[in-house]
Amino acid sequence: MLDYHVHTTQSADCNTPMRVSCEAAIRAGVAEIAFTDHIEHEPADMSFGFYRYDQYLDELEQARGEFGDRLVILAGAEVDFNRGIQDDVECFLAKHAFDFVIGSVHYGESGEIIFPEYFDNRSLDDVFLAYFEEVHAAVETGWFDSIGHIDLPKRYSPSAAGAYDSARYRDSLTMIFQSMVNRRVSFEINTSGLRQAPRTSMPSAQIVALYSSLGGELVTIGSDSHVPDTIGAGFERTYDMLELCGVHAVSRFRDRTREQIQISELRRRSRST
Ligand SMILES: [Zn+2]
Ligand SMILES: [Zn+2]
Repeated sequence: MLDYHVHTTQSADCNTPMRVSCEAAIRAGVAEIAFTDHIEHEPADMSFGFYRYDQYLDELEQARGEFGDRLVILAGAEVDFNRGIQDDVECFLAKHAFDFVIGSVHYGESGEIIFPEYFDNRSLDDVFLAYFEEVHAAVETGWFDSIGHIDLPKRYSPSAAGAYDSARYRDSLTMIFQSMVNRRVSFEINTSGLRQAPRTSMPSAQIVALYSSLGGELVTIGSDSHVPDTIGAGFERTYDMLELCGVHAVSRFRDRTREQIQISELRRRSRST
């Protein structure tokens, strides 16, 4: 398993030290882990101003020293993106090196997207169309290796707002995926949705099938773990889903460079360990 979305104490919403997650990853049979803490430039967010890159690198070096013979440990980041903070994001990425960078949209240009209150005076269309516009803008920057949880608002939409149906947003998703295919940007299958609301991965199979039908084949998988027990969770199910949708490989990264590894190979290796 290549778990490419795990948080540490460098994220304001996570109390799990990197060392503890490394131990859990080895126990779970994870071969590669990318620690992707929140890089936040949105002043309203609890993570704003929290992250310390130098400290993060120190912790990473310590973890590599202790666990590097059993686990590949990658320097990652989950960089929050929207067009309102674009200049800050660009500046940050120009100055900081990583192996792998996720671009995630958590906010709209004009306010919070990720909390149920946001839906109060808005229709699902208002929320999702604005969200997908930001995701598209994130892809178009070319700054990110993978795009995180591309239908995140479905986690937070209250049932009163009506049912989210991804087919309704086919045009937006098609535009996003065409950009991804052209720019060779991966997107993430975030397995956290399997263990909490909405009880499907983000995105779900229907969206992955659309991506595949447009010629897409570049995905990463991440558990989005904030606690050690969920590292590597939901990966077997995700392999099944990807293969059913016509995606047969997963992306891995070193120093921002992608390599594709076949799912059949990942399954073979996990059986032999
Ligand atoms: Zn996120
Ligand atoms: Zn995350």
